[in-house]
Amino acid sequence: MSTQGADVSPSGTGAGRYAPSPSGDLHLGNLRTALLAWLLARSTGRNFLIRIEDLDRARDAGTADRQLDDLASLGIDWDGEPVLQTSRGAEHDAAIERLARAGLVFECYCSRKDILAAPSAPHAPPGAYPGTCRDLTEEERGAARERIAPRSPALRLRVPDGTVPPVFDDLVLGAVHGDIDDLVLRRGDGTVAYNLAVVVDDAAQGIDQVVRGDDLAPSTPRQILLQGLLGLPRPEYAHVPLVLGPQGKRLAKRDGAVTLADLRERGTGAQDVLGILAESLGLARPGERITTRGLLDRFDPRALPKHPWVYRGLPGAE
Ligand code: GLU
Repeated sequence: MSTQGADVSPSGTGAGRYAPSPSGDLHLGNLRTALLAWLLARSTGRNFLIRIEDLDRARDAGTADRQLDDLASLGIDWDGEPVLQTSRGAEHDAAIERLARAGLVFECYCSRKDILAAPSAPHAPPGAYPGTCRDLTEEERGAARERIAPRSPALRLRVPDGTVPPVFDDLVLGAVHGDIDDLVLRRGDGTVAYNLAVVVDDAAQGIDQVVRGDDLAPSTPRQILLQGLLGLPRPEYAHVPLVLGPQGKRLAKRDGAVTLADLRERGTGAQDVLGILAESLGLARPGERITTRGLLDRFDPRALPKHPWVYRGLPGAE
């Protein structure tokens, strides 16, 4: 895996981060979020760390390496070695174990279909876990284990009765209210769930500032709940607007020419892409040559973007 030593490593405490999943090359939307995370961390004297969130896929070092190379080619640097989430299994297991010892974990035998088919609790958000396996007897559990074999049960958090969903103050969105349910901690296939891993890993890496796409804002109350139950500190959050494609939907690979590799093929290098991203943030004039260091002088941490940027393709391109 390629690494990059940071040439500027603030001695202050605290860190921001970028945590890509290695599911494919980063596109302009991902890169813009990474740039904002870097700008906010560096402009507030924090370290900037990278975590590769590779729990979900068979490890594909090639993709993660390309993502790191793309970040570096824009001038986004980071401190220390990128952390692979799959290397942190022992800590994830220990956190689940702590919750289990506190009586806060139960086995769930439901398939996705079962959950969709179950009548949901009144006022529960769509897709929320209806509580099917929360209060089964030992006998019922034995029968359910047999019924689903060879599938293994998932593990869910038993949200303590009377828990009030946490409200958090987001640097972009303001006060965010969200729903919580008995979220999955470990899936039936043994994979640790994102919400558990992200909370444990952010705390272990000393992350006190989380910048990520606003599609993840609804997950944040669950993560804050877990932080509270595990006694972990709560970082500050900035959920930034996503980049939209020409149809007004979240930018995706199918919009074409949205990764650095695509754009390079069309003669648009990383420097130009940084310029386009900076322009979208109101930090550069069209066509201006700029570096990430130069952007730091112009960036105002209090002026994070509040609205999505619609990317309509390269200027002059059809
Ligand atoms: N790995 C997630 C993603 O690529 C981001 C998770 C996070 O920033 O908390 O969408």
